[in-house]
Amino acid sequence: MHTTLADFIAGTPAGEEAADIIRKCVHCGFCNATCPTYRLLGNELDGPRGRIYQIKEMLEGAAPAPSVLEHLDRCLSCRACETTCPSGVEYGRLLDTGREIAEERVGRRLWPRLQRRLLRLMFPFPERMAPLLRLAQRLRGLMPRFLAEQVPPPAVDPGTWPVARHARSMVVLSGCVQSVVTPATNAAAARVLDNAGISLQAAPAAGCCGALSHHLAAREEGLAFARRNIDAWIPLIEDGAEAVVACASGCGVHLRDYGRLLAGDPDYAAKAARVSQLVRDLSEVVPMPEQPVLRAEGRPAPRVALHTPCTLQHGQRLGGRIDALLRAAGCELTPVPDAQLCCGSAGSYSLLQPKLSAQLGDARAAALQAGDPATVVTANVGCQLHLGARCSVPVRHWIELLDDALPARPL
Ligand code: SF4
Ligand code: SF4
Repeated sequence: MHTTLADFIAGTPAGEEAADIIRKCVHCGFCNATCPTYRLLGNELDGPRGRIYQIKEMLEGAAPAPSVLEHLDRCLSCRACETTCPSGVEYGRLLDTGREIAEERVGRRLWPRLQRRLLRLMFPFPERMAPLLRLAQRLRGLMPRFLAEQVPPPAVDPGTWPVARHARSMVVLSGCVQSVVTPATNAAAARVLDNAGISLQAAPAAGCCGALSHHLAAREEGLAFARRNIDAWIPLIEDGAEAVVACASGCGVHLRDYGRLLAGDPDYAAKAARVSQLVRDLSEVVPMPEQPVLRAEGRPAPRVALHTPCTLQHGQRLGGRIDALLRAAGCELTPVPDAQLCCGSAGSYSLLQPKLSAQLGDARAAALQAGDPATVVTANVGCQLHLGARCSVPVRHWIELLDDALPARPL
């Protein structure tokens, strides 16, 4: 589709990129078939093709109706549409631009504005999140169901972090929400990698990856988080760290974008590109187990259902790697219908779109448990909590399974 950019955006990098993306769209509508919100709501305007069209109209200067903001808000940013699109339309990038324009041009009401501001003020900061979470856990019984479902159970003891002792090292994203609600994930990753001859280091000065701010149309705020992380990691990279490891795929997909997001910043462009090149999802750096360490002798294989987060399978195109790791470790992966679909967690989506998020979460929990697994595993903290509130079996990060096997049988 051809786009004639309006004066307010013509000639800007964001405008030119958006026009290039829209040009590739041939309006075939294949993407609608795998879009969770189109499948639920059946409205063209709540599917990728319709959203692209609404963004195109804004870029051409049409005054957006309040409904445009609603249709864009309902998008999960899951990018399943990108995986399906035969023309290579980079919908996620277009959506970021569309959201910024809609945010500026359509006034939000006071409560949604406050809600977004509060999320941005609390979630990226572990020191603020931790006391808030403790309070919410105490008051959980008094909350309505939709709110109580958002409150995770107290975190399990993360165990010890191995002392750095190897010549090979990698730096891990400490993150924000994950460090408070599932601290066991990074600690388990550190132990598994230590056993494989790699020391995993956290950089205390680093923090939130900036994805939450970015997806709430607060681009500059997101970039400030990115710069802080880059400043914290570059010295470790210069000291020999081979990779920047993300144990939450929602953060990993954003870290990979630092180079593009900071390309126009002369002070950070080169450093951001270097960091982005070194980003690896945890599943890319954990070596393939050489023996079925998770299958006890004489016992059947543990039955595990894997939820591959959208940010891993669509955002980073790394579907299949965790499956292979778990199979090599001796697990039997139970079948999961429609495994390409989003669980509805999607960052702050579960708080901002609770009804749609719950519908998607209930459907995914049922699909994951259809094969009667003993455990559900995933690779992103948001999915882990969202599914954990809905599944009758434990929902864990997959690395915890490999960590469980370490004391008795090294990988
Ligand atoms: S599948 Fe791709 S080309 Fe077809 S309508 Fe969707 S975004 Fe456009
Ligand atoms: S990102 Fe996900 S929810 Fe949004 S349009 Fe694409 S498939 Fe639909």
